[in-house]
Amino acid sequence: MRYVSTRGQAPVLGFEDVLLTGLARDGGLYLPEAWPTLSAVEIRGLAGRPYAEAAARVLAPYAGGAMSRDELETLLADAYRSFGHAAVAPLKQIGPRHWLLELFHGPTLAFKDYALQAVGRLFDRALARRNQRVTIVGATSGDTGSAAIEALRDRTSVDVFVLFPRGRVSEVQRRQMTTVDAPNVHCIALDGTFDDCQDMVKAMFNDTGFRDEHKLSAVNSINWVRIAVQIAYYAVASVALGAPDKRIAFAVPTGNFGNVFAAYGAKRMGFPIERLILGSNSNDILTRFLASGEMKMEPVVPTYSPSMDIQVSSNFERLLFEVVGRDGARVTELLTRFRKDGRFRLDDEAMGRIRGLFEAHRLDDTGTLEVIRRVHRESGELVDPHTAIGIAAAARSRFDPAVPVISLATAHPAKFGEAIERAVGVRPKPPDRLQGMMTAKERVQDLPNDQKTVKSFIAGRVRR
Ligand SMILES: *Cc1c(COP(=O)(O)O)cnc(C)c1O
Repeated sequence: MRYVSTRGQAPVLGFEDVLLTGLARDGGLYLPEAWPTLSAVEIRGLAGRPYAEAAARVLAPYAGGAMSRDELETLLADAYRSFGHAAVAPLKQIGPRHWLLELFHGPTLAFKDYALQAVGRLFDRALARRNQRVTIVGATSGDTGSAAIEALRDRTSVDVFVLFPRGRVSEVQRRQMTTVDAPNVHCIALDGTFDDCQDMVKAMFNDTGFRDEHKLSAVNSINWVRIAVQIAYYAVASVALGAPDKRIAFAVPTGNFGNVFAAYGAKRMGFPIERLILGSNSNDILTRFLASGEMKMEPVVPTYSPSMDIQVSSNFERLLFEVVGRDGARVTELLTRFRKDGRFRLDDEAMGRIRGLFEAHRLDDTGTLEVIRRVHRESGELVDPHTAIGIAAAARSRFDPAVPVISLATAHPAKFGEAIERAVGVRPKPPDRLQGMMTAKERVQDLPNDQKTVKSFIAGRVRR
């Protein structure tokens, strides 16, 4: 399998290089040169298999010659061994034709563990084989950081620097990052928004001198392999509800468009996904875009769903590449305009392709609390604010009611206890393994939103 950049100017790479590179050298994101597909027989054959085995079957075509299916299965089984549920990603019915896909059984209680626990091990394997080391630099709106830290802590060939927007992540989210006592882990609280953190990381990657000197690499969802690993739970969930013989829709609370792009990938692989319903919070750039055809940046506002407090959905670039006929020059032109003017408009043909599969709904904080309350009343389930936004979007969708919807539960409610308490009056207890974190010593560096300062902090701490 070979991978191409959405901007069309970076070298074509294989699986392992795409894994280690993250952002392409032309500023674009990597995608498979052609989507692999599974036949109906192969899809049917996933039914009833242990999660790691089914996931390895879905992921194997992406690894191409780099890893066999058996090697992948062993690695994935190890990645998910510590998860708190034997099904890894269990489905739970919450209403007629409405299911919840629980993706919070990993060590940091958000869906990002599903990809990162695998990606951390894939990094280790690739670096050991090549006798190399890397510096992971990542921006987080809350959940990526802790998931990356958990996946990479104490690894000798990797240093990890995580930038998060100071004061804009929940207390549990912050502590999950700052209380990890590992020599290769560094948390930076940046004076800015998540988009500032993301821009800072992009700027470091675009500084080729700095990037090469410190062997920068990324585990943000700009890293293709994260998306590829996430395709597995869409595949497994759709098979559980009857794929390839029954159609299915997914509702996905969306920030950086990474998770839902994995759903798109599952569809391209042959899974009968008929509809993708996006939920956004008040930072509703994608909802406005789907309605108007214009992508237009607005300032970020903090919400109860901080992992979606994003205006620039990085992974949208991948969908853009797909709907403009994989024309890298066109993607470059649109995104250069977006950088410069804060907006771009897409033609009707491309918008038609997007609207044929995606729809989007926005939910503000008041609505989010109402949905948490309603779901609790109707099903007894406590859902986190991000999950509630996806559920609300599913409820508002007027897509074919005969098609069942799976809403993604992207985080455990205890991660966002403050919002849950406001909604239903009780604070969910964090699972036992997180208790110690609430009193442990925090290690974090406050830094201004200034490239020079951040770069010199990193340069001073990278191990040679
Ligand atoms: C990261 C995150 C999201 C958003 O996912 P994207 O891939 O950025 O769209 C939603 N919910 C939770 C809990 C998250 O951690």
